Amino acid sequence: MGRMLNALSDRTLELGPARNVEREGNWRVATDEDYVTWLVLDRPDMSVNTIDRSVMEELAVHVDRIIAQRPSAVVIRSAKPSGFAAGADIKQFVGISREEVEAGLREAHAVLDRLASLETKTIAILHGHCLGGGLEIALACDRRIAISDASLGFPEVMLGLHPGLGGTYRATTIADPVKAMTMMLTGRSMRAKKAKAIGLVDAVVEERHVRAAVQAALYNELRLKAGSISSQAFGFRPARAFAAGQMRKKTAEKAPKEHYPAPYRLIDLWEKHGGDAKAMQAAELTSFAELIETETAQNLVRVFFLREAMRALKDGASDIRRVHVVGAGAMGGEIAAWAAAQGFDVTLGDVAEKPVGKAMGAATEMLERALRDPLKVRDALDRLTPDLRGYGIRHADLVIEAVPEKIALKRKIYAEIEPQLKEGALLATNTSALPLPDLAEGLADPSRFVGLHFFNPVSRMQLIEIVSHEAIAPETARRAIAFAVELSRLPAPVMSAAGFLVNRALTPYMAEALIMVDEGIPKERIDARAEAFGMPMGPIELTDQVGLDIALDVATSLRADLDTEFPETPDWLKKMVEEGKLGRKTGAGLYEYDKDGKSKKRKLDALPDTAKDDPDLLDRMILPMLNAVVACLREGVIAREDIADGAMIFGTGFAPFRGGPIHYARTRGIDDIVAKLSALEEKHGARFRPDAGWERLKG
Ligand code: NAD
Repeated sequence: MGRMLNALSDRTLELGPARNVEREGNWRVATDEDYVTWLVLDRPDMSVNTIDRSVMEELAVHVDRIIAQRPSAVVIRSAKPSGFAAGADIKQFVGISREEVEAGLREAHAVLDRLASLETKTIAILHGHCLGGGLEIALACDRRIAISDASLGFPEVMLGLHPGLGGTYRATTIADPVKAMTMMLTGRSMRAKKAKAIGLVDAVVEERHVRAAVQAALYNELRLKAGSISSQAFGFRPARAFAAGQMRKKTAEKAPKEHYPAPYRLIDLWEKHGGDAKAMQAAELTSFAELIETETAQNLVRVFFLREAMRALKDGASDIRRVHVVGAGAMGGEIAAWAAAQGFDVTLGDVAEKPVGKAMGAATEMLERALRDPLKVRDALDRLTPDLRGYGIRHADLVIEAVPEKIALKRKIYAEIEPQLKEGALLATNTSALPLPDLAEGLADPSRFVGLHFFNPVSRMQLIEIVSHEAIAPETARRAIAFAVELSRLPAPVMSAAGFLVNRALTPYMAEALIMVDEGIPKERIDARAEAFGMPMGPIELTDQVGLDIALDVATSLRADLDTEFPETPDWLKKMVEEGKLGRKTGAGLYEYDKDGKSKKRKLDALPDTAKDDPDLLDRMILPMLNAVVACLREGVIAREDIADGAMIFGTGFAPFRGGPIHYARTRGIDDIVAKLSALEEKHGARFRPDAGWERLKG
């Protein structure tokens, strides 16, 4: 990571003339010997540019000056090594009324309209991240030149919005409309070359050729994309209607309309107004303002800030460069590969040769998928060294143990490792269930011992629970948190206690579902209800994914360690484990799986009718999860409500548009939740008893 940043900051950007630069607010301006005005966005005291009202207001002044001074061309670019702009300043979207948004947008649209209609040629130069509002400014220019590392995108859907600064109609007019729509609908970024292929940019050059490219654009020598046939075809409504239908279908597979209205709004906009810029602009503006007020958008904005809050837990650097991982199994292999991808030097050991070989193969696949750049994959693999004899241990700043969940085995390994550790090195465990004080018994120096509880798969699950215990040194916890952020993951500090936060909350969700299966409720319907609530996976399928053996182990240890009541595990589940039907990994568990690992579920309409279903189906799954989070807050397993919400979202995928479990409880009403839990307790028993911690949330 550190290395990557250095490479970026070393780069010199062509920013036009160095002399006579006027710096006013967010922009710096200078005019070169060809009478080209360079308008460079460089927001003071920020490492990345964001677009807010002040940026647009100042741009308006510059546009006026351009009209008055008539330079031969205008170049717009960014002075930040990280890129052109990271999109709109999201702080603007918090708790704002629709009217305020509309008024602000109207002014901003007017600025971009004037920029777009300037007689002077305008050229945007895009490097690094060019997202959302930044890309929309670029789209209002006559030409776009991308540096080959540029990454362009419209991330607005991730916030429950769609582009609002003219992006919807400019992108679909300038580029291939269906591809531009896909970009806006998925929020996925696109590299420069691809952006050129779809017509979003006119040329891709290396940084050192920027001046020459500006000259070429100035003299109309820039090879322009040919007007695509598809953009003409979609000038007709029937063609758009057909494509829009396809888009709706695809979107519905990912994002149900009732929870995620924004992509559907965007499709409507284009279907209705595509090809009519004025009408689409007016409709975009209103639609954006309406979306901002939705609970979904406000909650997704909240999730954005939760992520920031988790990153902000980092206080200084980890001072970790070399990492040794012990145990090259499912977790250790991925942890090692991911750490190498993030710039750490990693050695990977195991008792046996085979898992290491397998992990190296899997690492290549995972890195290709995650990094999508052969050079980066090569660099990451260069930093990952198989190390069966554990030579890396004595050089490591951090040793992460990821061997099977057996206390005696882990202790034995620590006894071998600890004497070899260099001064200042940390020792971490990836245990999901074993108490850290027990594991630390026998360590000469437990103060440097910490839990780094990664989630599976490491490349996709952003959370790491940073597990503390009584004997930990604050400096160890601080460095572990910093390490998580340096790994591009999100840390949630927790105290060692059964299941930590995430597994403790997820287990009752899964256990209750099994009881409902016992009651005769079809498992597909149980999963479907949880998914409709917004969980990424229903509890039955999740149990299969985790593995019935592991789920049983976790449930058993939680039941032993916690005072709270816990659902009994059905005997048939124990029998399945004995028979080796462990879930997805064995091809069969609660569901059967095909060879690609896809579950074979019955269609919902083919299931027996719902008459026997419990009307409390959903609450029976969700409320115990909330109850467990509240218990963790009360017991001090986790200190902060917002971090608990973030941990559940990034560790379990808890419906992001609901803003997290505690936020959901607050939105629904604490009294309502407590009353419901009490009613369920009366009906089903003590496992639903509201935790005492709810009282504190009432205040
Ligand atoms: P795994 O069985 O896939 O891998 C364990 C590896 O450790 C194997 O490759 C094994 O050969 C190796 N090993 C065994 N004894 C060893 C020794 N003495 N020295 C060195 N290596 C040895 O297990 P896993 O699923 O990767 O789990 C590892 C740890 O991570 C466990 O503590 C588990 O609870 C935790 N964890 C697992 C998951 C998950 O979803 N699988 C998620 C979070 C945490």
